[in-house]
Amino acid sequence: MVSALEHYSYCPRQFALIHVEQSYDENIFTLRGSADHERVDEGYSTASPDIRVESSLPIWSERLGLIGKADIVEFHGDTPYPIEYKHGPRKMGVHAEMQLCAQAMCLEEMFGCCVPKGSVYHCSSHHRREVVFSEELRTRAESMLVTMRAVLESGDVPEPVNDARCTNCSLIDLCLPQAVGKRRRLSHIGKALFEANEEE
Ligand code: SF4
Repeated sequence: MVSALEHYSYCPRQFALIHVEQSYDENIFTLRGSADHERVDEGYSTASPDIRVESSLPIWSERLGLIGKADIVEFHGDTPYPIEYKHGPRKMGVHAEMQLCAQAMCLEEMFGCCVPKGSVYHCSSHHRREVVFSEELRTRAESMLVTMRAVLESGDVPEPVNDARCTNCSLIDLCLPQAVGKRRRLSHIGKALFEANEEE
């Protein structure tokens, strides 16, 4: 799924919990996000002389092995301009940008054209932030897809990041980042002690 790029970019463990273990949970942020998406999820079309707008547009790429939906695609003439709706202020990192870039690459394959830019729309601030799909962003998104596919094939769930990202993560009660992190740390300490005793 195209949306999985944002999950992986935010936290590889979050990606694996959702897409390997099929776990999901809601919190206040995901619920607010769903409410913000209600209008675009209706799948409407509008047209003015300059711009045609499609919401909840199905997208795919055979080359990248991706499917998904774009919240909004504006067509400026024949050029698609994807807009991804996000609840709340910008998160640190380029998570939404990765997802949007993957949408752009799908649209390029579907419509046989170049999609040079799009926007992330922050619902709470009503702010549109333009994203240019640079070669660097495209390469980064494609290489992340390769890593994501490897995680899917292995079925392994990566270690918790156990940092500030966890505070707002809806999966925190399923993930238990502190408990898992502590258990892994104790296991590493135990292993190191065992190896030290072996060497003596
Ligand atoms: S709680 Fe933290 S480690 Fe766990 S999935 Fe969420 S962000 Fe990742």
